[in-house]
Amino acid sequence: MAELEKVTRLVTIEHFSTPPVEIIRLKRDGHALSETQISQLIKQYQNATLLDSQMAAFAMATCIQGMNADETYYLTKAMLDSGSRLVWPTDSVVVDKHSTGGVGDKASLLIAPLLASFGVRVPMISGRGLGITGGTLDKLESIPGFKTSLSLVELQNTVNATGCVITGATEEIAPADRMLYGLRDITGTVASIPLITSSILSKKLAESPDALIFDVKCGTGTSMRSLKEARELAAMLVQTCRRFSVKAKAIITDMDQPLGTAIGNAAEVREALLSFSGSGPPDLVHLATTFAYELLVLSGKMVTYNDVAENLTNGYAQNHFEDMVKKQHGKLCQLASPHWTPLIATQKGYLARVDTGALGALLVRMGGGRQLPDDTLDPSVSLAVPKKVGELIEKGDVIGAVSHTTPEPYLNELRATLHISNTPVEPRPLIMGTVTQDADKE
Ligand code: URA
Repeated sequence: MAELEKVTRLVTIEHFSTPPVEIIRLKRDGHALSETQISQLIKQYQNATLLDSQMAAFAMATCIQGMNADETYYLTKAMLDSGSRLVWPTDSVVVDKHSTGGVGDKASLLIAPLLASFGVRVPMISGRGLGITGGTLDKLESIPGFKTSLSLVELQNTVNATGCVITGATEEIAPADRMLYGLRDITGTVASIPLITSSILSKKLAESPDALIFDVKCGTGTSMRSLKEARELAAMLVQTCRRFSVKAKAIITDMDQPLGTAIGNAAEVREALLSFSGSGPPDLVHLATTFAYELLVLSGKMVTYNDVAENLTNGYAQNHFEDMVKKQHGKLCQLASPHWTPLIATQKGYLARVDTGALGALLVRMGGGRQLPDDTLDPSVSLAVPKKVGELIEKGDVIGAVSHTTPEPYLNELRATLHISNTPVEPRPLIMGTVTQDADKE
């Protein structure tokens, strides 16, 4: 009945515009669409005069045929214009960082308060994990009471009070993306560079930022498996930002092994807290410091890498983090502690490879990640991989750990993800490339 109603309304609107089916056919046949056509489609979808089935067909056509830079810009603009934008005092510098998602990636927990410690505003609109990659909101929700569904007013008040916020997109932010993302999720149409770009940017640009930085992950623990794909997504993100006069930079980082040691929501928050007190894993600390430094420079701040490194551990960033958690009703003192069962090496050798995708999938099966959007998570379920690729392992070393009420079956699965070789292995660099708005550097 509801579908019939939509069809009836569709007939009325067709009189005034290109029939949606014609726009879908054009994309199916590989033609570039105009701004008017794309904007029409998004508006019709938003006001329910376009059927879900039609939008799914359009998303699939886009997945297969792709979109050029102009079309990607038009789609981003249409989705951005479907909602509201944040408004800031004129003298404020507003910045944000976005990660395309990985395994053990808790860097945003460090970067948002670290940036805030330099006086910029960070209205970080973040997402939940789905599939093998974790989500920043899930990590924060492992802090009892932490609220991730703030209204626009609460979001702005939190940033004005503490310098940063990490929250989900409100109803008012890019509502067309919310509808389209839900549909893409169930129609196999997530993996598309123009759809990912417009989805990410419609939310990030709604923050009215001066500068954005993207952590484009590359490897087996994320959706961009090859450097070529990662670079393509990075270039589309930064070039589309330029069309909106927003400064942007992307850094491609390794996701062939987890970032830091802990994988699992409460354990990752604990690892972030350790990093504020100077005991964080070196890869996580370096990545967080690099992104905050690069973004501050991009936004015009005169800082050095060392200044940023200092603020990460001198209590300044931690104060902003704790203020933010308090303002968002979180009780850090009630954060769950993992109960680790160690995994012991049975042979000597070098850690050659970590099957990072399988690690992410294992966490999901243990109950620490989400298979369906409505799944509830167990925040205390965790894995740990304390060794890095290339590291020498002695027989008897702890090479992993599982936190679960029945850890035994998972210990073997964890062992299967860690590949040990007799010969030394050269690890990939953590930072694999940088894409700026002027040039594409290796
Ligand atoms: N994150 C988003 O917000 N959208 C995508 O399409 C993919 C990742």
